[in-house]
Amino acid sequence: MVSMLDKRNRPLRDLRISVTDRCNFRCTYCMPADIFGPDYPFLKKEELLSFEEIERLAKLFAKDLGVVKLRITGGEPLMRKDLPILIEKLAKIPGIEDIAMTTNGTLLPLYADKLKKAGLQRVTISLDSLNPERFKQMNGRQMSIQKVFDGIEAAKKAGLAIKINMVVQKGVNEQDILPMATYFKTEGHTLRFIEFMDVGNSNKWNLAHVVTKKEIIEKIHSVYPIKPQPPRYAGEVASRFYYEDGAGEIGIISSVSDAFCGSCNRARLSARGELFTCLFASSGFDLKKIIRGTDDDQDITKILKERWSNRQDQYSVERDQQNGNQFNQKKVEMSYIGG
Ligand code: SAM
Ligand code: SF4
Ligand code: SF4
Repeated sequence: MVSMLDKRNRPLRDLRISVTDRCNFRCTYCMPADIFGPDYPFLKKEELLSFEEIERLAKLFAKDLGVVKLRITGGEPLMRKDLPILIEKLAKIPGIEDIAMTTNGTLLPLYADKLKKAGLQRVTISLDSLNPERFKQMNGRQMSIQKVFDGIEAAKKAGLAIKINMVVQKGVNEQDILPMATYFKTEGHTLRFIEFMDVGNSNKWNLAHVVTKKEIIEKIHSVYPIKPQPPRYAGEVASRFYYEDGAGEIGIISSVSDAFCGSCNRARLSARGELFTCLFASSGFDLKKIIRGTDDDQDITKILKERWSNRQDQYSVERDQQNGNQFNQKKVEMSYIGG
């Protein structure tokens, strides 16, 4: 396998592709409705990478940079028309071992079967509360929780592997940690708790609103004893824990309280075709302009290799060194580059 190392000896293995900046939700921690309102200038179709352009780039990332995993994200990826056609193209790329998608789940009843047939293997469905009112409030669109349950059901019927993501915020939904654990333990889906992160500049992040990995572990362990597990592969984002009663596992993604930059093997392709080598970057590198300007793939590969081999990013480690204070910098919004 090709291994390109960055300045901190990290290989590139995982490419996250945001296919749209649009979403049918307005989650308060991601696209708050007061900022992403009716006049918000979302990207126009011609500003997005086409499926052919995404495929071309993904092939080069797989062949020449060592990418083996793709994750489709957004915005809400299922808002992008004909997404199964893209999945079908990506699933045929030699070297790609795993294709997953992160989604809010509401459109899965329409697409789960088609996605599975196209070659999608796994979905991560985001759900922050089992309380119908709190869920409505958090998604910013008064969307009913039943729509997500229908999405989970559709994914299950289609034979997609399922994980659930829950972003935990102090004073907002920390009381949902245990009910969520109880429910998904019984349902047999791995639940992953995500610390509220300071992505972008819109979500009014504050360290005091983070429920830390330690707090989450304590809460769960007091009711359902859990034991830590080693990572299954280098660069696994979530720390994993098994329920001691044998009822499966949970994961915790602790970007704030326990940074994992040292093993970060991820790059991100934004909806408008920029390359980001860190979730918290201020700006990306305009790959769209490059690929629209040349038919020579070798030119593009050379640039991709240069970008990765010069990479030094470790934002979360640096945030930690500043005792959790954010840097006063402009950061790209989550809806452009996905989670
Ligand atoms: N719309 C899809 C969804 O919500 O699953 C995919 C895109 S969303 C940006 C990807 C993941 O990022 C979701 O699981 C979401 O909960 C998470 N996320 C968004 N903003 C976040 C934040 N400020 N802190 C932590 N996780 C966040
Ligand atoms: Fe949309 Fe996902 Fe962001 Fe929520 S987290 S606003 S569903 S992109
Ligand atoms: Fe990777 Fe940047 Fe997150 Fe660190 S802060 S784990 S380098 S994306």
